[in-house]
Amino acid sequence: MKEVPKLRNDCFSMPQGVDWTPVDEALTMLQDRLKTIVKTETISVEFSDGRILAGPVRSRRSNPPFTNSAVDGYAFKGALSAGRHCFSLAKGRSAAGASFVGAVQATEALRILTGAALPEGTDTVVLEEDVLVDGYSLYINGPLRKNSNVRQEGEDTFEGLELFAIGHRMQPQDIGRLISVGVSQVTVYCPLRVAIISTGSELCGPDTIAQTEQIFDANRPMLQAILKRWGMDVVDIGIVKDDAALVRQALNDAAREADVVITSAGASAGDEDHVSASLTAAGNMSLWRIAVKPGRPLALGMWNGVPVFGLPGNPVAAFVCTLIFVHPSLMQLAGAGFIVPKYLTLPASFSKTKKAGRREYLRARRQGETIKIFASEGSGRISGLSWAEGLVELPDEALEIIPGNPVKYFPYSSFGF
Ligand code: AMP
Ligand code: MG
Repeated sequence: MKEVPKLRNDCFSMPQGVDWTPVDEALTMLQDRLKTIVKTETISVEFSDGRILAGPVRSRRSNPPFTNSAVDGYAFKGALSAGRHCFSLAKGRSAAGASFVGAVQATEALRILTGAALPEGTDTVVLEEDVLVDGYSLYINGPLRKNSNVRQEGEDTFEGLELFAIGHRMQPQDIGRLISVGVSQVTVYCPLRVAIISTGSELCGPDTIAQTEQIFDANRPMLQAILKRWGMDVVDIGIVKDDAALVRQALNDAAREADVVITSAGASAGDEDHVSASLTAAGNMSLWRIAVKPGRPLALGMWNGVPVFGLPGNPVAAFVCTLIFVHPSLMQLAGAGFIVPKYLTLPASFSKTKKAGRREYLRARRQGETIKIFASEGSGRISGLSWAEGLVELPDEALEIIPGNPVKYFPYSSFGF
């Protein structure tokens, strides 16, 4: 097994004096600095759903592997002109898995079933509904083009063709495709192991009887569910109080167990923001002040050689930052490349005025062919994440939207779930 490349310790460094970094610049920096950091393994195609290919995959057999009938009918040779044609019915038949042995004469037509090999002497099939059989004679009304109702050998895929490139994430239909062309094993990247830490002295677990000032830790289970949908392995480090020594201990545990660490909360520069403080003390932390709403500073750094993504604590901001920044970054670390989400341009059904200087993401959903946004932009309104089916992205510049204006809509599926 060859060595897996490691990231440089300064991979998240930001130029001095940078104030607010535009989203596109932040994304370009992440793309330039991150690379695949996982090993590879060879597995059965059957179990490859959601896995990322570590090399190109080629077809080992043509599909179809032999020329066969696309319908139940009769096989004969040649094109038919307009008008009535008569063939004599050949003895026997060709069925899937039980091909006809022998040759069919030019004056004959042979009974053939879907998927059966075309017998020697034939190249065309007529649908059984379109013929009249009378004893040993068969009548067909032309015209019929040569090769009608026939699937040619290799017409879908030929042997040796590159089917998927390195970095492709396998889907159920890809499993079917590979198996159909004789590929039974694939080399894939091992799942990225992602440790999750929630920080905050106010947090408690879902089964706790919460005290008045306590908050249920919503981020960690939400992030875990997202990571599972991305095909990653989750290492749950739990909740850590706002205490420098405990945060350091949790980061040590996380970096030992996982390839990447995600923390939530404590990422700003406040008194109790121990994630950013610990990473800063370790000497390789950057507070990325990204010009985005929602989302306060994203803390990025390296801890014992492992990249750390410090998300904002607010669940709405944590969710949006995860989709916009963490998704492409983790996919790149996992071997799938820096994924650029797909969007639709659809007319807004809302009005909105925004100032210049930062990009905004609104919780949104489709209403027919228009896009509706959640009633409140309050970043504490977690209910909007469930109401929404995607995000609307508003550009960095100032903008005035009125109903009917086109907006960029990213369905949640663009972010891999
Ligand atoms: P912070 O980033 O630590 O300033 O937290 C911002 C806000 O998010 C505060 O109101 C926190 O109580 C809240 N918060 C932090 N972590 C979580 C979490 N894991 N689940 C839900 N809310 C959180
Ligand atoms: Mg806090």
